[in-house]
Formats: sequence, structure tokens, C-alpha cells
Amino acid sequence: MKRRHFLMAVSGLALAGAAGMSAGRWHRPYLLNPCRSTTLPQALAASPWLARTWQGLDPARVWDCHVHIAGIGDGDEGVKVGPKLDSVLHPKLYAQRLFYMNAGCVATQPGTVDENYVLRMATQVAEMPVGVKLMLFAFDWFHDERGEVSVERSTFFVANDYARRVAAAHPAAFEWVASIHPYRADALDQLEAAAAQGARAVKWLPAAQNIDPASARCDAFYAALARLDLPLISHCGEEKAVQSSQLEPLGNPLRLRRAMAAGVRVVVAHCATMGEDEDLDQPGRHRPSFELFARLMGQAEWKDHLHGDISAILLRNRRPDVIKTLLVREDWHGRLLNGSDYPLPGILPLMSPKTLATAGLLPKAAVPDLELLREHNPVYFDLALKRTLSWQGKSFSPQVFATRDFFDKGQHELRD
Ligand SMILES: [Zn+2]
Repeated sequence: MKRRHFLMAVSGLALAGAAGMSAGRWHRPYLLNPCRSTTLPQALAASPWLARTWQGLDPARVWDCHVHIAGIGDGDEGVKVGPKLDSVLHPKLYAQRLFYMNAGCVATQPGTVDENYVLRMATQVAEMPVGVKLMLFAFDWFHDERGEVSVERSTFFVANDYARRVAAAHPAAFEWVASIHPYRADALDQLEAAAAQGARAVKWLPAAQNIDPASARCDAFYAALARLDLPLISHCGEEKAVQSSQLEPLGNPLRLRRAMAAGVRVVVAHCATMGEDEDLDQPGRHRPSFELFARLMGQAEWKDHLHGDISAILLRNRRPDVIKTLLVREDWHGRLLNGSDYPLPGILPLMSPKTLATAGLLPKAAVPDLELLREHNPVYFDLALKRTLSWQGKSFSPQVFATRDFFDKGQHELRD
């Protein structure tokens, strides 16, 4: 698939979206994000729902801890797309990619897509109070059992050096998170280098990268993470955003006990809110992944090591009772970390404020402003939406959003 075809396909989708709107059946676009200016219209900027977002919150502590760098590889060597994601022979993956690009608002000139994706993120941050930052994820290749790269089996790749450079170019907007496969021969050198260059954490997606967190092969890597005090953000539960196939069991939250036992601070991405995994404590039985995460949260031995990020928990494919549990478990809030999983909040069909309001999780009056905010600034939208959620009078406490305290080690030392 050539870049030109890709861009034509994006504009084809855009036309489909516009047709839906002009038919007059929809108050708001429903398929494609119209990518309005990140400068908010006066009425929206004055919305009480936006003002509420910042009540009791210090913007300088608000780091969105789960943000993806996407692109098509038309910039430098920093982003590469695996063959499956780049082929119309895999229509589902290909369509996903088109939506990612639309959410990032980059239907633009060939040669500028990667760059515009980054700029669009930076302008969204610039429209929020000073101090807010996004933590950008690198993404390592799939590696086989011998620790060799397999481009063929990879979905996409974002180089550590690229994430680092993007963050360095926009220091007021971004921090960066390394991705290092523990089976690589140079894994420890890579980790040392990333820590020295300011990485705030390491990100794994075990089922997509072929990493078994319960394997002894990770032990040296875990020892180094613990020594460097770098958190490990690891995807748990079913993975819909990138293809993962038969490697799904590697995302079992219980497999992360090995990392925690080695002293690593672990962040379970999305609090494992989707899918089922084998209950390794009772082999042969399967339980919702979220239940296994909840079990770990309840075990005193992991109190200082286990955390969960609340990215993607509001997607339509999550059950409302999972969201309700996260809201009412105030005893967990000190261990939850906010992230958006951007660009996903910009993909209109994935999240529905209206449905959340119908489920009683959101005031109906907040829906129009939130939906309009998403068309201008999906990053801000995700934060404002989570700050507005409540169930039985319980909301996420401000500390869930003050994630800098967890990732900024210097800050820890200052406070202690
Ligand atoms: Zn993600």
C-alpha cells in the first residue's frame, strides 16, 4: 500500500463522515473526528465542566501517563509500520490504522504525517493549563525466542531515540517512555541508556512483542529496573488496539508477580479491564482479567509495587460495572494513574459520553460540551470526562491525576 493510497483512503472516510452530517440526522459527527482547531471557541473555553476539571488539581502534577506515538514512517527513521498494518490484505488492521491517523488529525501532505501527528499533540497540550504533559511511548519490535527481531510479526515500531527526541523538542509538553524487549542481547545496555537519557518508565505490550513477564529470562532486566527505580507499564488483558493472536496469555496480570517480587514498580495498563485470563492460582479456570488484577490489588505484599493506569477504561468495549468498581474503590485511588491511551479518545465511535450519561456515570448536561471538546482536543476531552465521572457520589480522587509524583523520582526525593 502506497502512502498516496493511504491518504486517499483517509479522505474517502472523511467524505463518508461528512455525508452522515449533511443528511441532518446527526447533531455531531459520528464516525470521523472533524479535527477542529485546538483553540477552543469562547463558549466552550468558559464551560463549567472544563473549570471543574481543574478544581483541586495542580496542572504541574498532571502527566498523562499513556500516550502513543503513531505515524506512517514518512518522517525520519523513528516510526515504522509492520507489513500487516500496511496491507489492505488485513482490512481490520488497516482500517484501525486509518482511524488512528484521523484521531491524530494528520490527513495531510505525504512526508509530513509523522511530524504533524506530533505537532497536533503539542498544540493540544498548549491549550491546557501550563504544566500538563503527555508521556509518549516508544514501541519495540516483536522479538522471537532467540531474542532476534521479527519485523514480519511486528505491528509497528517506535524507536526509543525517536520518542526521546520528540520529547526533547517539546520539553514543556512531553516526557518519554522507553520500550525495550527483555530478550534482546543488549537489553540491559538499552535500559541503562534510556534511564540516563531521561526515560520515565518502560512500556511493554507482552502479547504483541512476545514477552513472557513470568519468565526467568526477564530477571536481569527486572533487577536493573528495580535498581534504576524505573516503573514498568505493561499491558494486561485482551488487546484490541494492535494484533496479538495466540500470544494473548502473556498479558495475564498474574504473570507480573515475578516483576513485583523483584522489586519493580509495575503499572498494569488499563487495569486489565478487558478480556479473560487463566487463573494461574487455580490452573484450568478462566476469570475476567480485571478480577485477577483486583486480586493482586488486594494482596498486601504488592501494596507498594502494583499500580494500574485508567487509560481506555471508558471505551465502549468496557463494562460499566468495571468503571463503577474503579470509582468506588477509593482505597485503590492512591495506586491508580491517569492516562488517555491517545489517540484512542479521538476516535469518535470508540467512546460515547451519551452512553456513559445513560448509565448514570455522567451528568447529562455535561455531554454536549464534552462531545464538542473531543472534536477540538481529544487529550483534554479524556481528562475532562474522567474528572466529571461519578458513581454513587464517588469520583476519581485528584491524586489519580497527579501522576507526576509517581514518575518523577527527583520529586519523590524532594518530598521525602
Ligand atoms: Zn495503549
